[in-house]
Amino acid sequence: MRRLSRHVGQVWVPKAGWVRFRWSRAVPAGVKSYRVTMDRAGRWHVAFAAVPDPVPAPGTGETVGIDRGVVVSAALSTGELLHAPALTGRERIRLRRLQRRLARAKRGSNRRGRVRQAIARLRARETDRRKDWAEKTSTDLARRFDVICVEDLKIGNMTRSARGTRESPGRNVRQKAGLNRGILRSGWGLLVRRLEDKAPGRVEKVRPAFTSQRCSACGQVDRDSRESQAVFRCTACGFAGHADVNAAINIAAGHAVTARGGDGSTRPVNREPQLLLQPA
Ligand SMILES: [Zn+2]
Repeated sequence: MRRLSRHVGQVWVPKAGWVRFRWSRAVPAGVKSYRVTMDRAGRWHVAFAAVPDPVPAPGTGETVGIDRGVVVSAALSTGELLHAPALTGRERIRLRRLQRRLARAKRGSNRRGRVRQAIARLRARETDRRKDWAEKTSTDLARRFDVICVEDLKIGNMTRSARGTRESPGRNVRQKAGLNRGILRSGWGLLVRRLEDKAPGRVEKVRPAFTSQRCSACGQVDRDSRESQAVFRCTACGFAGHADVNAAINIAAGHAVTARGGDGSTRPVNREPQLLLQPA
């Protein structure tokens, strides 16, 4: 690899020779391998493999919990609500228009190819924004908190499980498919991966059972406390707050690991099937 100017470099590609590329970001010293790829939008990339240096912990002893959702991409136990960027309203309108045009275009025609390309470029733009968001957010969290608690969601399983198999068809397939799309789009998996890269040994995965039904103030678990998508109002103590932030506080406390239900004076109202799998 060699540099030609501030914005242009050249890389030796076997069987192709020297290939010029746009030098879009700093290449750390000592990289040994690279990958050349073409994305959905038809753009070629050369990526040099480098493990990012871990971000030093602040040493404040502070723990943060993150509740990852669809409406709010990530709610922090500090009360912050983070939104992964999406396409703008105007871009979405354009995307829908292109999709309609694609449906009308004749198979195999040049026009169809052009429309597909335009759609892919829009989608790639959204993906780029989310990647960028995941990078910035993970660095920020790794810098600000010593311990970062996230839900232990098997994203791979979750995104595959909606439809189920022929033997055991999935339940609520449509709702889950919608949720899964949102999860993929919001870039959860990427965020957690980057957190683990940047804060090695400081990311804790917490079992997610009951985090959304448990009151972060008194510990009561009741499905009815989840008043709506956004509002949590405890049926026992009256504590009210943003539902995702309440869940994030539970995740920070690692409460989900020991979820047991009511505390004796209150009726146990757990109806989540995970209850059976919880250790006593
Ligand atoms: Zn309560």
